[in-house]
Amino acid sequence: MTYPKTRLRRLRATPALRALSRETSLSAADLVQPLFVCHGENVRRPVASMPGQAQLSVDEATREAEALAKAGVGGVILFGLPATKDPEGREAYDENGIIPKALRALKRATPDLLLWADVCLCEYTDHGHCGILNGDRVDNDRTLPLLARAAVAYAAAGADMIAPSDMMDGRVGVIRRALDDAGQAETPIVAYSAKYASAFYGPFREAAESAPKFGNRRGYQMDPANSDEALREVALDLEEGADMVMVKPALPYLDVIRRVKDRFGVPVAAYNVSGEFAMIHAAARNGWLDGERAALETLTSIRRAGADVILTYFAKEIAPVLGRERE
Ligand SMILES: [Zn+2]
Repeated sequence: MTYPKTRLRRLRATPALRALSRETSLSAADLVQPLFVCHGENVRRPVASMPGQAQLSVDEATREAEALAKAGVGGVILFGLPATKDPEGREAYDENGIIPKALRALKRATPDLLLWADVCLCEYTDHGHCGILNGDRVDNDRTLPLLARAAVAYAAAGADMIAPSDMMDGRVGVIRRALDDAGQAETPIVAYSAKYASAFYGPFREAAESAPKFGNRRGYQMDPANSDEALREVALDLEEGADMVMVKPALPYLDVIRRVKDRFGVPVAAYNVSGEFAMIHAAARNGWLDGERAALETLTSIRRAGADVILTYFAKEIAPVLGRERE
């Protein structure tokens, strides 16, 4: 049926009709807010390139988590800033390191808020790479047991979800076995399965102080040109026991999110990364676009592409907006 019988504008006429025929929903419960946790007390160190985001001591992170829980966000994901860095990233898997400390405090303060723990070594190594080195290469197989130790320490401290982001081969299986052996068979793994070597991580590296001191991460993170390979990564992680898979970043990889969702039909998370957040804020600050609308449209596009869950720095500012009527 064509015009004039069919008029697609009929269902666009009023806010109520638009709300009724809207295909994609976006709610605070879909959003996970990243938090950068550091040692000390009363510390709230703003991240210049990420307006509204800060490095937080555990007490401040607790306050932040309480506000986020109140706003109805789906969870928080924690990144740690250690007291000291060394070649093996020891604080990453120290039971009394910054992340286990934060997890214990947040679990007490906000028992119903889902706590995700990112698992990687790059914030903790003095060279800034995601694993331990053999010469100037990251040694995959020697890194795996350290990631597993970190995962077990975080689960024991109260993490509800374990999210390995290192991109080592075989890490999901090794972490799954370690969690099972430690009596944490019920703790889900969210695998950063398709994590690309991206320019959009710039502001995060300032926030997490995790920029590599030499070289880059292209030897383990994915080539932005590839998407068949993303499906292979996802397939392997699922085989190894991942409960949810992730695509990171989100916006430049919406096609990958869609392919993963269509092919596997499993829960998919997407990480709307620091650079995606910073771009919108920078343009909004210049008056070049409406930041709130651009953020809503971005998050909706990620959901529309097939993501069930979005990790995003916008969670804190957008969650309250989502309760409001939308035009
Ligand atoms: Zn890393």
